[in-house]
Amino acid sequence: MGKPLFAGNWKMNKGVAETREFFEKFLPLTKDIDFENREIMIAPPFISLSVASEIVKDSKISLGAQNACWAKKGAFTGEISPVMLKELGVKYVILGHSERRHIFGESNELIAKRVKGVYEEGLIPVLCVGETLEEREKGITFEVVENQLKEGLKEIGNLDGAELVIAYEPVWAIGTGKTATPSQAEEVHSFIRQILGEMYGKNVADVIRILYGGSVKPGNIKELIVQPNIDGVLVGGASLEPESFFEICKVEIS
Ligand code: PEP
Repeated sequence: MGKPLFAGNWKMNKGVAETREFFEKFLPLTKDIDFENREIMIAPPFISLSVASEIVKDSKISLGAQNACWAKKGAFTGEISPVMLKELGVKYVILGHSERRHIFGESNELIAKRVKGVYEEGLIPVLCVGETLEEREKGITFEVVENQLKEGLKEIGNLDGAELVIAYEPVWAIGTGKTATPSQAEEVHSFIRQILGEMYGKNVADVIRILYGGSVKPGNIKELIVQPNIDGVLVGGASLEPESFFEICKVEIS
């Protein structure tokens, strides 16, 4: 298994000045964190990646981006290429986030292209999957998640596991203050591991990190991280304040 990953998704928050302010407070806090047994990643908006990259380059913090195009360059107005992200030292790219799917209409087809482009450039896709409240109430959570996984990964062949991260983010739990209970989350995580096993083999599935996301806070991290198939968290709102993100990142890991 890779190290548990504590990932902050800033979404459309923090320009250059606020990014500097965040790290001025956050980096000193992380001095006592044992980076041997966990990894911390922060995904600022594109406009702040360059300054974040300068700031974290001598630290143990990894950098993520919130999306990427599949192509290396060209006529793709408004997009950012994986090559550009690599130049800044970006390691992870969040793809298929529910806000991309539901607000901007990104389809599984489009997401699969992004996943492939990012993967082929040597960056690690963090593929987000998760059901809406309506889908959960209809009892089709597993079906939805399985479809998003298979469709999102359909362009990727063989893997050794370390180069892929999955984030299970039930849409009804994102930014709503409602968290999936640890057993609700574990149930879906273990299902995702099983599907990945069918796709890539058990040895590969065992090393793919599966993150939970959806209103993770200092108050609920402990009960989530002890679940056997939760290998880290993707944090939105609570990653915006250095203190609350630090409280999450320093949780005891057995
Ligand atoms: C997210 O955006 O990935 C997320 C999980 O947000 P929040 O933690 O605010 O629910």
